Amino acid sequence: MRTETEISFNSPELMGQELEFMQEAVARRHLSGDGYFTRLCQSRLQEALGAKKVLLTTSCTAALEMSAILLDIQPGDEVIVPSFTFVSGANAFVLRGAKPVFVDIRRDTLNLDEELVETKISPRTKAIVVVHYAGVGCEMERFLQIGEKHGVPIIEDNAHGLFGKYQGRPLGSFGTFATQSFHETKNVICGEGGALVINDSRYAERAEILWEKGTNRKKFFAGLVDKYTWVDIGSSFLLSDLLAAFLLAQLDQSLKIQSLRHGIWRYYYEGLRSVAGRFSIELPQIPANCEHAAHLFYLLFSSRSTRDETISFLRSRGIGSAFHYLPLHLSPMGRRFGYTDGDNPVTEDVSERLLRLPLHNRLTREDQDRVISAIAELHG
Ligand SMILES: *Cc1c(COP(=O)(O)O)cnc(C)c1O
Repeated sequence: MRTETEISFNSPELMGQELEFMQEAVARRHLSGDGYFTRLCQSRLQEALGAKKVLLTTSCTAALEMSAILLDIQPGDEVIVPSFTFVSGANAFVLRGAKPVFVDIRRDTLNLDEELVETKISPRTKAIVVVHYAGVGCEMERFLQIGEKHGVPIIEDNAHGLFGKYQGRPLGSFGTFATQSFHETKNVICGEGGALVINDSRYAERAEILWEKGTNRKKFFAGLVDKYTWVDIGSSFLLSDLLAAFLLAQLDQSLKIQSLRHGIWRYYYEGLRSVAGRFSIELPQIPANCEHAAHLFYLLFSSRSTRDETISFLRSRGIGSAFHYLPLHLSPMGRRFGYTDGDNPVTEDVSERLLRLPLHNRLTREDQDRVISAIAELHG
């Protein structure tokens, strides 16, 4: 018998003027990329991150692919990437012929382990991809040192980290590039979308060419060349202005979105603290030098079976929950690169014990009370 309503794991929500802005985009008669709303979103993000340039893309995946092209990744190159991440962090470089060098994560933040990274650098290493897991900053001071010492650029996959900070500086402002996602599961959304954040101006001009399918179209419209032509490789990386209109409305509400999500995050944290203490469930750890982005709330159970049991129990109570990431190094693709069980032990362990709780902008305290008491009941 189920009398209560379902609590969904994620729920993309309108937060303000999304539909009005989309209507305005239609009225402006410009629905393709690089239009009025695209430029507004780009300058908004550029300002928020202190970036040299921002280009809206069709996804974070597309922005990672652009990063790989901009760094001239070639067959035989190596790219260091966590195994505990979304597939695109590796795929974008594998598409250029690189070998992903999977490195393990830290037990406290589940972020790439900076000390292990340095031991995996070789003369073929062309990039280090860091992921600010759950919107908690990686040890960027150390990563920047390592990058500089070995002449290897850092890419921040900042899909979780928009509006988070490390040592008071925005996540996404540290790497040569940072990539953002506006997929419906992220904090600020437009369905499918992303951005390439360029923090090194040397890459700005070429980035615009790749973005415009390998042409100098942007220069042509700026009156810098008298016709536009094919000058480099590239692809269709531009976000439709219709989606940029949706995105601008979300960016307008970013303070509200962040404050809602932080409120939810803290309520879980406080509500689960005593339960967690009693049943050896671990809560997220936020280092003192990080302001996290409240992207997701996770728990680490003592074993895979208690984690899986919790998912089923929550489901029986109409509550959606989820786990991730399946270690990339143990996937069929990962194994093709020669990886095997035990290569990234922390990733393998955490992946089996991690559970994500519902977190979206319309989640109520009553919803959260139901989630918290279900967990307490099962483990009580
Ligand atoms: C969501 C996500 C991506 C992919 O984003 P898309 O916009 O769907 O391509 C990449 N990396 C991380 C860490 C993500 O969470």
